[in-house]
Amino acid sequence: MLTDEFQVTVPALGKALSSFFGVPYEAYRGDRLKPAELLKNLRREYVESSRWVPLLESQEGLVILTTDPERIQASRVVNNIFPKNRLVYQVCSQREFTQTLNLFYGGGAASEGGGGMADESSMDDILSSMGGDEEEGIVTPDEVSAAADNELVKLVNKVIVDAYRMGASDIHVEPGPGKAKTQIRVRKDGSLLNYIEVPSTYRNALITRIKIMCDLDISEKRKPQDGKIKFKKFGPLDIELRVATIPSQGGVEDVVMRILASGEPLPLEKMGFSARNNELIRTTVTKPYGLFFVCGPTGSGKTTTLHSILKYINKPETKIWTVEDPVEITQKGLRQVQINKKAGLDFPTIMRAFLRADPDVIMVGEMRDKETVSIGIEASLTGHLVFATLHTNSAPESINRLLDMGMDPFNFADALLGILAQRLGKRLCGDCKKPHIATADEIKSMLTEFSSELTNIASWKKDPVAAMKNLYNEWVKSFADPKGQFTLYTPVGCEKCTGTGYRGRVGLHELLIGTDPIKKAVQERARVADLLAIALEEGMRTLKQDGIEKVLQGITDMHQVRAVCIK
Ligand SMILES: [Zn+2]
Repeated sequence: MLTDEFQVTVPALGKALSSFFGVPYEAYRGDRLKPAELLKNLRREYVESSRWVPLLESQEGLVILTTDPERIQASRVVNNIFPKNRLVYQVCSQREFTQTLNLFYGGGAASEGGGGMADESSMDDILSSMGGDEEEGIVTPDEVSAAADNELVKLVNKVIVDAYRMGASDIHVEPGPGKAKTQIRVRKDGSLLNYIEVPSTYRNALITRIKIMCDLDISEKRKPQDGKIKFKKFGPLDIELRVATIPSQGGVEDVVMRILASGEPLPLEKMGFSARNNELIRTTVTKPYGLFFVCGPTGSGKTTTLHSILKYINKPETKIWTVEDPVEITQKGLRQVQINKKAGLDFPTIMRAFLRADPDVIMVGEMRDKETVSIGIEASLTGHLVFATLHTNSAPESINRLLDMGMDPFNFADALLGILAQRLGKRLCGDCKKPHIATADEIKSMLTEFSSELTNIASWKKDPVAAMKNLYNEWVKSFADPKGQFTLYTPVGCEKCTGTGYRGRVGLHELLIGTDPIKKAVQERARVADLLAIALEEGMRTLKQDGIEKVLQGITDMHQVRAVCIK
């Protein structure tokens, strides 16, 4: 009996919908067959925006599923499309309606079923109150800008708030030409995810709205522009977004927004340093003066790490100046200055000003040119602690790069405290990763990869077999269970990680310390390979080695380590 079933299974919302509209409630059924014949002439965009879809032909008549039976019945639109049928209506929630459409038409937004993503129903609400595509024959472009303006503002705000809440770093707005929809994707943990599609009618209004938010020229559509959104002027969050527009194929404009990480930096212990690195970082960055670099490509988390270090040494008795482009993370206690080239505020100018402003610590967003590096070395030799990021691949390579810029090897060796190279790998999702006991082959191949980084060092060359045995014994001591077995994990995919098997990221590190042997090698302009050999002999781990140890701890997998350690 339908009513009996009702008592137990119908959620409160369904009951309310049903009694409000006086038609039965249809809960989502994943086993429904696609009524191909009935859907023959109905495009997804149309049923999505008009909010009704035929389910099947029953004895009572053609069953129509809708979120708003009253409006659909009154409009007689279904009667016009299916004039020969008797109609029976069933009501469902917006979420269930979208699920049914995904079942029938396939695909749907990546957010479907992916917990933690956008609040689907309310995004749907916004999109539906904005109206649909032109096919419905109601919305004309003029009406769009007038009637839907308010909804459009809500939509853009929601996209930004959702992206921020899910921990995304970038929002990509990709309009299609003609009647193609505008795709919005977000980058999270380094990969793009589909987020929503917006009807083509809103393409121009959407882009214009974003441009207005960051004071760009809305009439200029043929040149790239860049700007910044201070979101607290428009929405409930105190965040900033860096916006770039780029004219693209088909006379449209793409927009990419970078969400600038704001708020508190992470404490050092949350940065994923190995025990050795954790210890060394703390003793190195608390020295009274010298130079410390964090290096890596764009997006490797250099700024985040530097701010964690600054947080560690940020005390009331210490004056810390930072110069950044842009200021991404703000910290109480730091005096932060933003580069402004138009106003003549570049890195060297500001650094010279800092030196006149009684600093203890200076942090420089990026050291790109000879002048900036020279001032940095000078500052550290005159008793200041200087931190900077570099755009280099490895720690030993950074030394060569700086000497090639024309730095004096003796001054540089004196100033050097340490260099931290960093990459970000994807972290296995803690809720679904699948454990297995590592096979002998797996361990052997990891040992081989780990030691391939060591072939240049003297102790290894002397007796590779013994060295490999030592390494294995060390691993057993640090990472194996009491039986001497290693547990490795493979990604699976669940709701929490949107089916990818990975959630969040983990830093891989290579920390070179400016020890006496390293300083001596710098003065002698040693080759990169020799610097590396000295550091390894002292116990440094390369990026890949640090990654392999993190695989043995079950934090990530070899696939990720290889992907981020490509040379
Ligand atoms: Zn998962």
